[in-house]
Amino acid sequence: MTITDLLPEQLDFERPVANLAGISADATPFSALALVRSTMTYDASDGIPKLGLGTWQNTDPEECVESVRYALDLGYEHVDTAQAYDNEKYVGEGIERSSVDREDIFLATKVWIDELAYDDVLSSIRASLDKLGTDYLDLLYIHWPAREYDPEETLAAFDQLYDEGTIEHVGVSNFEPKHLDVARETLDAPLFANQVEMHPLLPRDELVEYARRNDIQLVAYSPLARGEAFDVPELNDVAEKHDVSEAQVSLAWLVQRENVAVIPKATGRDHIEDNFAALDFELDDEDVAKIDGLDRREREVDPSFAPW
Ligand code: NAP
Repeated sequence: MTITDLLPEQLDFERPVANLAGISADATPFSALALVRSTMTYDASDGIPKLGLGTWQNTDPEECVESVRYALDLGYEHVDTAQAYDNEKYVGEGIERSSVDREDIFLATKVWIDELAYDDVLSSIRASLDKLGTDYLDLLYIHWPAREYDPEETLAAFDQLYDEGTIEHVGVSNFEPKHLDVARETLDAPLFANQVEMHPLLPRDELVEYARRNDIQLVAYSPLARGEAFDVPELNDVAEKHDVSEAQVSLAWLVQRENVAVIPKATGRDHIEDNFAALDFELDDEDVAKIDGLDRREREVDPSFAPW
């Protein structure tokens, strides 16, 4: 599997989704969301680092190695990859070249949808560990509930990896509440995280509420809406007010939500630094209300096998 195998389906972008999953814009008023907001900071002993480095489409070997190394040396504590990104080897090399000890890094990868039969999960993870140069993962996700995904069989393999200590946490990605209900009922291990597309143009209020009720971490992918967030007038206003970038506004808005971490993809030093600085600044209530009030439901990632 190479990244080019994915592009036709996974790059099926720019399909705006009005009114996501039938949730009306006013289903969760921002006053209610305000109750679940917090400004938690990461505590390595009990949570997921709030900021991770995304690596989808970071497939140039030198660029990928160097971006991972640079981010870790700068202070990032979390790196996100996937079998399907075809870069686990370079991510592993970036970790190796950094000055940060493996145990101080929260490393996550994802099992692709063709590898979700019981034996395939176990064998593909051995290959991922080998490429990443590690003998354990902090978090392993099911990339999508699609193709070979079978809750009983797939989750039994995840339980096995959890029980033997190969993975510290079990995660899922692109799961809707109905998939989360089944996964939580089927797993013996706790369901730790759901990685989903989330940004000011796709706030996923129902998943934030689900995560809060069930103590699940949300990891926001495409947190910059793959660049679409930069042209939103409300974000331009907030960025100007604080003299920060729109990327920082989007990331700050996300990490101020309860149980939400972000994994912006950045390859160059400027972007890696800009995103890191988002942890140092806080939106005030007026900014948050302005962004919460955006009435847009626009997906950037919507492949044909998506479960919605
Ligand atoms: P994203 O992080 O929203 O946007 C990445 C784009 O924004 C890149 O073009 C990047 O450019 C640019 N960028 C980054 N920081 C910037 C800054 N401060 N100012 C201006 N531009 C900036 O999109 P994404 O890659 O789709 O999502 C992030 C990560 O989420 C992925 O890399 C992957 O790890 C994960 N993901 C998971 C799934 C899933 O199904 N679970 C799906 C999609 C993504 P440069 O590369 O040039 O720095």
